[in-house]
Amino acid sequence: MTTISSNLQAVKRRIDEACAGAGRDPADIGLLAVGKSFPAGALREAHGAGQRAFGESYVQEALAKQAELADLDLEWHFIGPLQSNKTRPVAEHFAWVHSVERLRIAERLSAQRPAGRPPLNVCVQVNVSGEASKSGCAPDQAPDLCRAVAELPNLRLRGLMAIPEPTEESALARRQFGVLRELRDRLNTEGLTLDTLSMGMSHDLEEAIMAGATLVRVGTAIFGERHTT
Ligand SMILES: *Cc1c(COP(=O)(O)O)cnc(C)c1O
Repeated sequence: MTTISSNLQAVKRRIDEACAGAGRDPADIGLLAVGKSFPAGALREAHGAGQRAFGESYVQEALAKQAELADLDLEWHFIGPLQSNKTRPVAEHFAWVHSVERLRIAERLSAQRPAGRPPLNVCVQVNVSGEASKSGCAPDQAPDLCRAVAELPNLRLRGLMAIPEPTEESALARRQFGVLRELRDRLNTEGLTLDTLSMGMSHDLEEAIMAGATLVRVGTAIFGERHTT
């Protein structure tokens, strides 16, 4: 067995164990393999081990890999910061965008989604740590942004995404994930139907699952340490 396939199995075991601890069904947790900085061959190997959904953070890098992997049936998720001048290739070449933090970007994605394609699945990214350097809208702006995004014709608002402040303290991690969870639950009582909480990475997927994550984004634990970017 290759390193990538044994790493993938180990991550799935972590998900299973976290679900057992949280009383959740592992079938309710999606796994996104985050391949940024790794070559297309590494993603191909993960696909060979059964992985189908891949997350990328940089548009040019992602497009190059998509071209190399065009023979595979993969589901591509854009999870990085998105500038308005890069929305078109993202609207054209991805199934999901997790990093919508302002309406202008969502409007462009909707306008640029090619006719005949299913709606682009979207998560609104929320800054749950309050750090000024972090991407994402403020939690108190999220409701209005979500309601506006939900109205756009070629997008399907699926849920919320967050990257909490890195911490060794699991109580703090859980509190930040809890902010996202409570926001999602509140929006669902207010008429939206958000089925996705995109949260949890290599070092904190257990806390995220405990707090209600439905989609974890895992890079290092599958592909190894990143040496660039
Ligand atoms: C890189 C990245 C990940 C994966 O992080 P790991 O710690 O390598 O698992 C997840 N989400 C986003 C938004 C990322 O940029």
